[in-house]
Amino acid sequence: MSHPKEWMSVRPEGLYCSAGDFYVDPVRAVARAVITHGHSDHARPGHGEVIATAETLAIMGVRYGSGFCDRRTPLDYGGVMDMGPAKLSFAPAGHILGSAQAIIAHDGGRIVVSGDYKRRPDPTARAFEAVACDVFVTEATFALPVFRQPSVDAELIKLLTSLALFKDRCHLVGVYSLGKCQRVMMELRRLGYVKPFFVHGALIKMCELYETLGYRLGEIVPVASVEKASLAGEIVLAPPSALSDRWSRNLPNVLTVMASGWMQIRARARQRMVELPLVISDHADWDELIATLKDVGAPEVWITHGREDALTYIAAKLGYRARALSLLGFEEEDGE
Ligand SMILES: [Zn+2]
Ligand SMILES: [Zn+2]
Repeated sequence: MSHPKEWMSVRPEGLYCSAGDFYVDPVRAVARAVITHGHSDHARPGHGEVIATAETLAIMGVRYGSGFCDRRTPLDYGGVMDMGPAKLSFAPAGHILGSAQAIIAHDGGRIVVSGDYKRRPDPTARAFEAVACDVFVTEATFALPVFRQPSVDAELIKLLTSLALFKDRCHLVGVYSLGKCQRVMMELRRLGYVKPFFVHGALIKMCELYETLGYRLGEIVPVASVEKASLAGEIVLAPPSALSDRWSRNLPNVLTVMASGWMQIRARARQRMVELPLVISDHADWDELIATLKDVGAPEVWITHGREDALTYIAAKLGYRARALSLLGFEEEDGE
């Protein structure tokens, strides 16, 4: 048997599997890419072949247009694909629609590249599955002990309470366009919110894709199609960049809300002039990261994008062989 370190390495393009001659979530254009999910720091256009779940391929098509790569190869969760002498399969990561952990097996060794993941329920993503392996590659976006996320219900009830209290205020909610937006919509529906969601134009296409794939988001109305004054007391969703720009200025009596894991940092909320920060994250928090190391049970852990130092330290203390991978090109903000 050979250890994954003999056939997996970090190259300038990203994490490379020499046994199968492909990259996982490469940051530069390559001949053959395995993509864990559609967020832009993981899924970039311009590759030759892209192997991903059908949902991720559809998301990339919406974001980049149908010519985002030369050849799309869908692989379902649980399916197995030969990559030269190596075998590739996917397990759900619980992060966003279509998100997958890449499981690469070769010569008796197995590595799992998680991409991004979370452990909390999400109506738009299949729940994370722990897969036994020799090496587990984990993200570390929120890998500090201060990051402990409250429940989604507790956060969204703050929004619903505010709507009930401040009936004349337009509740402008900043959400990332892929994942967070649709998750927040579906969770609000589950909590009984039945009025339309008014949305910024930048969110529409992705919401339509979710609808096409069977996710019921309820009535969605483009902000551009209604009288602005009628938005008092309504929920308006927009990408975070639109919270403070000219686009939002004509909305009536705005109360600025933002749903992001980063809202746990008060300075970030203040910086974006957020009155009602909602801590809703699509990444594992500190406790979930540690629980996941235990659930997966890999003797060796490679840690990437985020707070590598803290997680490397605690993983070593818990008895894992832990190593920080210096993968460049991953932004912290997209989709949290
Ligand atoms: Zn992501
Ligand atoms: Zn990421």
